[in-house]
Amino acid sequence: MRPTVLCFSGLDPSGGAGLQADIEAIGQSGAHAAIACTALTIQNSQQVFGFEATPKALLLAQANAVINDLPIRCVKSGMLGTTDNIAALAEFLQQHPDYQYVLDPVLVANSGGSLGNQATLVKAFAELIPLASIITPNTVELRALTGENDLDLATQKLFAMGAKAVLVKGGHEDTPEYIRNALYIQGELISETRCPRLAGEYHGSGCSLASFIAGRLAQGDALKTAVQHAETWLFGVLKNAESPVEGGQKIPKRF
Ligand code: PLP
Repeated sequence: MRPTVLCFSGLDPSGGAGLQADIEAIGQSGAHAAIACTALTIQNSQQVFGFEATPKALLLAQANAVINDLPIRCVKSGMLGTTDNIAALAEFLQQHPDYQYVLDPVLVANSGGSLGNQATLVKAFAELIPLASIITPNTVELRALTGENDLDLATQKLFAMGAKAVLVKGGHEDTPEYIRNALYIQGELISETRCPRLAGEYHGSGCSLASFIAGRLAQGDALKTAVQHAETWLFGVLKNAESPVEGGQKIPKRF
């Protein structure tokens, strides 16, 4: 059986983001994806209309059903939706310190729609930060998590909050020609990549990247190698992304 990543993520009916992105990305990385579904969202490629979060006990029951069943090597979280679900995941991870853990600190959808109460989610994420092998914030999330506008200071603040490794994704920065991602381990800049900025908006790019990293970690890659593989793979799937309707975000073509 392939090494397995257990994802705590939400359902996006458009199939661009959330648990479908996770399943496809992890499959492409060579690992197997298992899912504990955190929420059912109502959305398309243009906007989020709402969501219903999974009750905490049901979320934990899903995760606990597969722990002795599958060779889980890594946990990945995306949309968690409620502080209850964040607490449930923290409890679960504390019981399984041998699992690696990729924390994608999802606060809002790329389309701008709410995926939970941002202020309470930010506070609750503090409990997950020290448990993560790597955190993958975009710069909007990084600033929100730390309350710090300057990106270098914000990154250092995340380490002061207990982070072990951070991949800062620069897609939301004002760099029209390129996107700069920077990987820090224990507070030190380890590598940075600049890839040409592709035109348009993409739905589920963050989920895809974090999940591919988790899939590679599950298979034994070191962090830096896992991130490099994931960035190269993501650029390919975004280049081939498909446009649904005028004004909709592009859906990455992960196969
Ligand atoms: N998880 C779910 C269920 C979502 O609906 C979204 C965005 O719509 C995300 C995660 C985050 O997506 P992205 O990778 O575009 O940041």
